[in-house]
Amino acid sequence: RVTVVGSINADTSLRLVSLPLPGETVLARDAARSLGGKGANQAVAAARAGADVRMIGAVGVHDGEHLAGALAAEGVDTALLTRAELPSGQALVLLDDAGENSIIVVAGANAAIEDAVVRRACAELARGDVLVLQHEVPVATSRLAAATASAAGATVVWNAAPAPTSAADLIEHVDLLVVNEHELDAVTRLLGVEPSGPEQDVAAVSARLGTDVVCTLGPAGALVYRSGTLARVPAPSVTAVDTTAAGDTFVGYLAASWHLPLPDAVRRATEAGALAVTRHGAAPSIPTLAEVERRLAA
Ligand code: ADP
Repeated sequence: RVTVVGSINADTSLRLVSLPLPGETVLARDAARSLGGKGANQAVAAARAGADVRMIGAVGVHDGEHLAGALAAEGVDTALLTRAELPSGQALVLLDDAGENSIIVVAGANAAIEDAVVRRACAELARGDVLVLQHEVPVATSRLAAATASAAGATVVWNAAPAPTSAADLIEHVDLLVVNEHELDAVTRLLGVEPSGPEQDVAAVSARLGTDVVCTLGPAGALVYRSGTLARVPAPSVTAVDTTAAGDTFVGYLAASWHLPLPDAVRRATEAGALAVTRHGAAPSIPTLAEVERRLAA
């Protein structure tokens, strides 16, 4: 069972010839709205990976029902979502023809997840359950969730994304830290260590935080640092069209595959991330377990 405590956003994706410069007005080719937010994307990925998934988060009064409905349609349990008297979280995603993107996120309701709900739900977790956290809701919420779930015996997976900017953003009671190269660099610096490449940095971060560490490397796959041993899991070679949600797909799949030996879970997550970059969008690009297994068997 996977419990995600995190962000839920209404994403608006605009495709343009080139990103606007300050003071410039540009026309978008089209606009698409979809469910997004790292928490929601990871919940959807874990559900498509076959896990029993529960989402704890907050949505706004207006489009909240729509966002909750989109999660529920994926089979995610939404009974514990808070309805806040704020606009729902939003992300404006600008994607240009060269594949560059700029993203603006408005936290909105994501800042209003109720402590009482987090405490109650995380206290009910048990050994074998997985709690998944990111860095898109208040750190105090993630801290409370991690401490409560850890005390209950659950495994805590923290995807430190977006990259933490202050040492006060680092959370305790984490079993597995998942980062991309940029986030690994940021966490390494916040721990007072000068980064010297992912292979050295995962070891340094693991030693200081007392966690296992997985670092995703885009087309190069992922590094796994567990109990002092480093392993590299390659990604299949694919034609990338949109890398949005590759990391979220990876994290959701990894959490849903926690009952497998770690190398097998990471192989699944790597394959799922690679499939996600071959398709447009965030949640719509996340593959199903059947698609991932077909590729792994090929
Ligand atoms: P993020 O989206 O957080 O920056 P990464 O870019 O590291 O994360 O991607 C996460 C995972 O998605 C990688 O570990 C890999 O499995 C897959 N992936 C991402 N980009 C590519 C790519 N160009 N080719 C193949 N796989 C990719």
